Amino acid sequence: MIQEQIPFVDLMAQRNRLGNQLDETILNVVNSGRYVMGPEISELEQKLADFTGAKHVIACGSGTDALMMPLMAWGIGPGDAVFVPAFTFIATAEVVALVGATPIFCDVLQDSFNLDPESIVQGIKKARELGLTPKAIIPVDLFGLPADFDLIAPIASAHNLLVLDDLCQGFGGCYKERKLGSIGDAGATSFFPAKPLGCYGDGGATFTNDEELYNKLLSIRVHGQGDNRYHNVRLGLNARIDTIQAAILLRKLEIFPDELKKRNDVATNYFNELKGIATVPHVPEGYQSAWAQYTLRLQGTDRQKFASILSEKGVPTAIYYPIPLHKQPGYINYPAASDTLPVSEKICDDVISLPMHPYLTNTQQERIISAVKSAL
Ligand SMILES: *Cc1c(COP(=O)(O)O)cnc(C)c1O
Repeated sequence: MIQEQIPFVDLMAQRNRLGNQLDETILNVVNSGRYVMGPEISELEQKLADFTGAKHVIACGSGTDALMMPLMAWGIGPGDAVFVPAFTFIATAEVVALVGATPIFCDVLQDSFNLDPESIVQGIKKARELGLTPKAIIPVDLFGLPADFDLIAPIASAHNLLVLDDLCQGFGGCYKERKLGSIGDAGATSFFPAKPLGCYGDGGATFTNDEELYNKLLSIRVHGQGDNRYHNVRLGLNARIDTIQAAILLRKLEIFPDELKKRNDVATNYFNELKGIATVPHVPEGYQSAWAQYTLRLQGTDRQKFASILSEKGVPTAIYYPIPLHKQPGYINYPAASDTLPVSEKICDDVISLPMHPYLTNTQQERIISAVKSAL
């Protein structure tokens, strides 16, 4: 019997839930004629500030823009070092290189997949050996799980480093009563469709409590503008979000808390059924994950074989990420905190992600769980 293919991320289920409301939202923007910087953008920024507790929010064109703009505003550039995890999506390191600074790849912890504070300390030493000035740390809330900010903050303050949280996968997550977006000197998220809160194209947002930074970011978002559009006081970007995407996000934000709860229910079910069988994600006390991904580690099991057994049963999997960043061809000339980054190198070989989204039915979850059990 051929079984129905389970979607890895089911954006259609959400689209159907939002129904006509969403059609109207989109059509309203089309009929308003305010395609660029329409009023929905500041409305979205206000709602995102309310949701996260951050004082200021700047919606922008992508998560990559959202990460790069604060680096530009801080004047980070050639001769400066920025510490990034080696196990993340490439954009975390790419933005550092794009502003002319040097990303220094640090190792991650095996339980959380997030930055290892000891490796940051080694990275700071490495930067000094190379004659670079340590400037910032970019912790990533990988797969939705918050980084351990209380361990990172003392290192940052001892070495006078800025903290830019990459919450591109973590929007909706919570660290010891603090929502992601409100932690660090700035935070950056992505609204790429498959992220926990996604639009229908590209979008992102930068968060900060710092008013001076906020004003610079507003300028950088639109070509470094000063008093008006044809007065340019610094280098900037075209980093605007489309009005249509902002309007879509406003609708999706209304159901987002419910979606987060549903993701959490799926994760709880996976945990209860798979703990003891595979290495499942662990959420420490006081943390809430946004569950961008549900990622297992397969120690001693052939990953390719595992994936093909699941695939035969209509269960898709994905590998986030197959290559640590310090081994990526485009990045091998950038330094790592130490000669090897053993955890990052190891987990790239044994991680595999299962379908994770709010609309997985009980039957689908049972099929996924039984496929995993039969493959192990
Ligand atoms: C998706 C992602 C980004 C980049 O976001 P875009 O909107 O695709 O530019 C950056 N960092 C991490 C960790 C991501 O997952």
